[in-house]
Amino acid sequence: MVSFLPRILALLVACMMAFAAHAQEKILNIYSARHYPTDEALYSDFTKATGIRIQRVDADDAGILARLKAEGTASPADVILLVDASRLWRAEMDGLFLPIKSAKLEDAIPAQLRAQAAENGGTSWFGLSTRARLVVYDKSKFTKSDVDSYEKLADPKLKGQLCIRSGSHPYNLSLFGAMTEHLGPVKTEVWLKGLVDNMARTPKGGDTDQIKSVAAGECGVALTNSYYLARLMRSSNPADRAVTEKIGVSFPNQASWGTHVNIAGGAVAKHAKNVDHAIRFLEYLASPAAQNHFANGNNEWPVAKGVSFDNPALKAMSGGTFKSELIPISAVGMHQIKVQQMLDRVGFK
Ligand code: FE
Repeated sequence: MVSFLPRILALLVACMMAFAAHAQEKILNIYSARHYPTDEALYSDFTKATGIRIQRVDADDAGILARLKAEGTASPADVILLVDASRLWRAEMDGLFLPIKSAKLEDAIPAQLRAQAAENGGTSWFGLSTRARLVVYDKSKFTKSDVDSYEKLADPKLKGQLCIRSGSHPYNLSLFGAMTEHLGPVKTEVWLKGLVDNMARTPKGGDTDQIKSVAAGECGVALTNSYYLARLMRSSNPADRAVTEKIGVSFPNQASWGTHVNIAGGAVAKHAKNVDHAIRFLEYLASPAAQNHFANGNNEWPVAKGVSFDNPALKAMSGGTFKSELIPISAVGMHQIKVQQMLDRVGFK
């Protein structure tokens, strides 16, 4: 009996190792700031195609970055999905991503929508979809020419008319960072003060709340990401569609530097335990099928080259195509602290 013990132990160890290898092979841990129910199909399609089970932690961008820092090398995260360009940049600067080499991703995603090459020639993060920051307005009070630039939102003509979510939300911080790049900090602070002076109320709620407030007559103009508007336009609820019929849509700055566009993107976590699966997942998100899902499921613009999509709401709101700004994402990221200080100075909540 005693002589069997080493064999049994060896067998047990082998079984445990096989089990561990199997578990590693089949699991992908994702930390995601994508808060869109339509994404569930993306994840389940990946699992169906690969047999890799996804375990997901949902939090906002800042929460995910804080968690990664706290967890350090012990972090189980393999893939990080964020919904803001400057947070992607921040995470890269903080060393939270593992630069990877993938010909598929490099072929699919234009260079300006991914991180610059790291020292090892790898790329830290990849943009996977884009969204425009639009102005919506009450058609009974204003015309498109009243709001055809972000600068005009600070015009005294709009006093008491502006509804906007918190200035510290990443969507606004990135827009304000872009404005700092275009106008310089002095003019941007004056502009931000103008926005505060024009507010209809203290910032509250999300972008959809701002759109609904314009339709309800509580404010005359508001800022929103494009997909929230598209979601209402395509809603099966007649009340949502009625909201969109009351408002006009402006893609600001078509006559100058173009509309501010933000990126949702993905990266492999610095301490990923399942690197191969993580890369495979990012490559899947850049595939035509997944890119189409971003367009048709969550009303975002695909980033991969040559992906055709048919989203009537995106087409209707933009007229098919529009001019988007072209500034380095690193510039938007670098202005974030400056912008937050300006917001504090002008009393932008
Ligand atoms: Fe969002």
